Amino acid sequence: MELKLYDTLTREKRVFEPLDRNRVRMYVCGPTVYDFAHIGNARPVIVFDVLFRLLRHLYGAEHVTYVRNITDVDDKINARAAERGVPIRELTEQTYRDFKEDVAALGCLPPTVEPRATEHIEQMKLLIERLVASGNAYVADDHVLFNVPSMPEYGKLSKRSLDEMIAGARVDVAPYKRDPMDFVLWKPSKPGEPAWPSPAGIAVPGRPGWHIECSAMAWKHLGETFDIHGGGIDLVFPHHENEIAQSRCAFHTPLMARTWMHNGFLQVEGEKMAKSAGNFVTIRELLADWPGEVLRLNMLRTHYRQPTDWTLRGLEESSKILDRWYEEIGDVDSAETPDQSFVNSLCDDLNTPDAITRLHQMAHPPVAGKAMAGVSMLGDRTGEDAQRHLKSSAMLIGLLGKRASSKKSEAIEAAKLDVTTIESLVAARSTARKSKNFSESDRIRNEIAEMGVELEDHRDGTTTWKVKS
Ligand code: AMP
Ligand code: ZN
Repeated sequence: MELKLYDTLTREKRVFEPLDRNRVRMYVCGPTVYDFAHIGNARPVIVFDVLFRLLRHLYGAEHVTYVRNITDVDDKINARAAERGVPIRELTEQTYRDFKEDVAALGCLPPTVEPRATEHIEQMKLLIERLVASGNAYVADDHVLFNVPSMPEYGKLSKRSLDEMIAGARVDVAPYKRDPMDFVLWKPSKPGEPAWPSPAGIAVPGRPGWHIECSAMAWKHLGETFDIHGGGIDLVFPHHENEIAQSRCAFHTPLMARTWMHNGFLQVEGEKMAKSAGNFVTIRELLADWPGEVLRLNMLRTHYRQPTDWTLRGLEESSKILDRWYEEIGDVDSAETPDQSFVNSLCDDLNTPDAITRLHQMAHPPVAGKAMAGVSMLGDRTGEDAQRHLKSSAMLIGLLGKRASSKKSEAIEAAKLDVTTIESLVAARSTARKSKNFSESDRIRNEIAEMGVELEDHRDGTTTWKVKS
């Protein structure tokens, strides 16, 4: 099976070949923990969870290491803790717990390692010392700065012009900078801010810049060069450009990660969802109204590199799709392997929309041997085989894993229905329909309807039922 992934650095979809098939290594930039995450922040979490699951499927679960960091030292954290009058550690711990709960409700597996920035200060300082020693960084005014012109390939990832980069970095050009693009690796802490003994002979205590955190954590847990580095498209510049500069210069390597992957924005009426724009809705708020699985499916209906608009209509559609699928699979067991063409779609740069189309085909299996317009007959499945593969395929991307029709069983119980009676009536109606005794089949349908049960006839000739809502 060939996995192809789009690489932001080369702007190409390329065949993915890990450095070591026994240890496939992926790093994804995680949350800055000062407040509830919004559903835009959930996009990279879900997208890279799908990739994590696919890699585990392809290389074996024990052969994949997924590192997603926690940024627990940051100006926004300091400001929020001061505003609330709570200790920084209390704020970051609580926010991290909330985040873990939220993303677990979205069906995301915990990454292999979730390193915290504050527990990797030593690695950051080591990197900074190396960069000063190699002439890529310098000390000025109790700061350590990375000297951008010292790295000729700076800008390769974002392919920006110098002017754009200066504007994008939004740096107010401090007088101690040698070059306007130079960025902070370490800075002095103001009183009351978290502080550690500084590297590079600086006498006053300080704290790391954001970019060096990821270079240090990736190094500690994945080594100098690894397979995949991911995050949202807004991180390409300056964050990932700076991570590359730091890691490559510290280790004298031609690459930091072999594949750079970025998800597109989740938008509201065409605008990026962001805390600063005020157009956000938290995962927590959405979970009060929708099952996490609906939010997850809704996210995956768009290809990860495309922008996606978050709408109520989309959520309603996703909810209906899931209900329909759960009804379809009933309580069958999953097949041992997912459907091959479903996996092929995922292997094509995580083409989840295509993979979901395949799930739809399995949920509406064509009658055996009869091609239907618009539906590929390529190895198409029928009946229970389709249901079992629908389940195992959906489960590969973190869907349909609930005990089948738990919702249905609850409804049956609430309506005090006798399942055996209903099923024998459904069977009797099918017999009547097959022998074209339509008055009898209508009579039975009415009898069933009076019990509060709704029937649905499918194209393959089968009938399913549900409790009327
Ligand atoms: P932040 O907390 O802003 O650093 O974001 C954490 C992660 O969420 C990063 O990978 C961002 O790229 C990503 N992200 C933030 N907003 C959005 C959005 N509206 N759509 C997609 N990804 C986003
Ligand atoms: Zn990062």
